[in-house]
Amino acid sequence: MNVHVIPSPRVIALPVAGIDATFPVRRVYCIGRNYAAHAVEMGHDPDREAPFFFQKNPDNLDPSGTFPYPVKSDDVHHEAEIAVMLKSGGADIAVADALDHVYGYALALDMTRRDLQGAAKKAGRPWEIGKAFERSAPIGPIHPAAEIGHPSDGAITLHVNGDLRQSGDLNQMIWKVPEMIAYLSSYFTLAAGDVILSGTPAGVGPVARGDVMEIAVDGLGAMRVEVV
Ligand code: MN
Repeated sequence: MNVHVIPSPRVIALPVAGIDATFPVRRVYCIGRNYAAHAVEMGHDPDREAPFFFQKNPDNLDPSGTFPYPVKSDDVHHEAEIAVMLKSGGADIAVADALDHVYGYALALDMTRRDLQGAAKKAGRPWEIGKAFERSAPIGPIHPAAEIGHPSDGAITLHVNGDLRQSGDLNQMIWKVPEMIAYLSSYFTLAAGDVILSGTPAGVGPVARGDVMEIAVDGLGAMRVEVV
């Protein structure tokens, strides 16, 4: 059966740096509170408790370089992160094998309607209303691991209008990339096209229309995103 009753949803395909081909997206997982200093600023214990994840939608990923201020919120925050893109997957992946499934890495912003997320947390409800809104994840070009390796340390920063807001080091992740992949694969079957947002360092805060956000990570360059 190859006839659909409605037009097919478009495949979300992201640019790869230096290559005239794209990376098609299947799922988007995001880890919460993965840098101790950010856990503390959000009022939580920085000890290494089990990781937790929420999801965004593939079409929330937006490589356009603009971020439209979303509806229904007056407190939209930036979260600077790196995204991990999988080229293969499976269930119960061992930590030692996890990096074999990584295609590459990209700069990403986990934009958050903090007011709506806060209300959801308080009510014990899911976070999607605060996290998985339209164009909520600006993302840069993907850098293949075959070219840049697997970044596990190096500065991650976010400036807004030239002022430093977030600053950390990838080596401060509580759960490292191979551990995240292994843990996720114990609950979900991972596959090619899956994307994992790996958490944000301290310094999250609000943006307004007209602001220019610039995220930079050692080895992944920089990405400029304007709030419109
Ligand atoms: Mn985040």
